[in-house]
Amino acid sequence: MSDIPYKIYLDESEMPKAWYNLRADMKNKPAPLLNPGTHQPMKAEELAPVFCDELIKQELDNDTPYFEIPQEIREFYKMYRPSPLVRAYCLEQKLGTPAHIYYKFEGNNTSGSHKLNSAIAQAYYAKKQGLKGVTTETGAGQWGTALSMACSYFDLDCKVYMVKVSYEQKPFRREVMRTYGASVTPSPSMETEVGKRILAAHPGTTGSLGCAISEAVEVATSTPGYRYVLGSVLNQVLLHQSVIGLETKTALDKYGVKPDVIIGCAGGGSNLGGLIAPFMGQKLRGEADYRIVAVEPASCPSFTRGKFAYDFCDTGMVCPLAKMYTLGSNFIPAPNHAGGLRYHGMSSILSQLYHDGYMEATSVPQTKVFEAAEQFARVEGILPAPESAHAIRVAIDEALKCKETGEAKNIVFGLTGTGYFDMVAYEKFHDGLMDDYIPTDAELEASFATLPKVD
Ligand SMILES: *Cc1c(COP(=O)(O)O)cnc(C)c1O
Repeated sequence: MSDIPYKIYLDESEMPKAWYNLRADMKNKPAPLLNPGTHQPMKAEELAPVFCDELIKQELDNDTPYFEIPQEIREFYKMYRPSPLVRAYCLEQKLGTPAHIYYKFEGNNTSGSHKLNSAIAQAYYAKKQGLKGVTTETGAGQWGTALSMACSYFDLDCKVYMVKVSYEQKPFRREVMRTYGASVTPSPSMETEVGKRILAAHPGTTGSLGCAISEAVEVATSTPGYRYVLGSVLNQVLLHQSVIGLETKTALDKYGVKPDVIIGCAGGGSNLGGLIAPFMGQKLRGEADYRIVAVEPASCPSFTRGKFAYDFCDTGMVCPLAKMYTLGSNFIPAPNHAGGLRYHGMSSILSQLYHDGYMEATSVPQTKVFEAAEQFARVEGILPAPESAHAIRVAIDEALKCKETGEAKNIVFGLTGTGYFDMVAYEKFHDGLMDDYIPTDAELEASFATLPKVD
């Protein structure tokens, strides 16, 4: 076993040629998106003004197991993929654990995260449809950065609505997006009807993701030649992100390593859904068994304290309803929450799998997350994104359990990105200004009360 290299790289020829659609192997399919007015399942025609045609097909297809990755996307992937699967020998040694720890590192591109895997696919299909451009929202800016780069590659216009507080406080990400030629507008803005309405009702508001989504959707549906794209949560995004899991499985199979536990952070669920896809597929088909663990922040605990119900995907309530583990579309994590993963809901695919007992979920307080981030940075040579550090926290905890029991378990986790644009959060942690606010049951109940009534 000691002949396993520090980094397992694949050859270009070993990269996946098709994305894997986990839904094809699910007995209980994820619930369909519903029209927010009629509560009937959304048809392709109804989604067409909002999303690109090919992406709608992918979104609604619960049966086709593999989708060929178009040649142009495979060529682009080669620029920064295959991503390495790293054996964390240094971390293992530091922890003194008999466990074998592996992580799949997705931070090796300018967006600094896995989000480019889906951004390039979405931009490709928009281009192929002959569109002029796309709109989107971004919070901290990882998704906006990935999409801007993908759009510039295909000469598409990219309009990003960036939550105003981030636009002002995170000028670096904003400038990366502008480097790729995207237009970046602080949200809420005076450019849209919904933005004007929100500004009139809440003068001086610093915005929210939900509000930025509503603006981006309005601009897409009211501008000829534009569609709206989203970087997580949707089935199509999990499909594209399956490239992470497929590469991971090929790399582990090369060395005959079978994971005992697979761990990923969960915001909207796209990296986790992608990482676990082929492993979960085996589990669903009864071919193998794995422990699969989703890690979320204790301050935004969709899986562990949310309700499995239909909810709005945005605060403006313009998007279709999705059935998912949700904290309610009005839920906003406490202002002191610095670790990302702040979306109120969760992928419908992962929600169904969790509901059916195929995976576990756990939540971790943010100071413990930053402790793990720091511990990892000091020995593994990568400064992790706070989001990724949620998975590191649980991987370290699992490895420490192995130290007690003497078990040499194989632990695999997703290291979704780097944290160089998150140094203000690290600063808060170092200065002892970070607390672990956890929402009370009463706060969550108030938010659940706003769930739409769907029967
Ligand atoms: C966006 C992001 C996440 C969370 O999104 P998911 O859709 O849950 O994967 C995690 N890590 C990084 C670095 C991100 O940018």
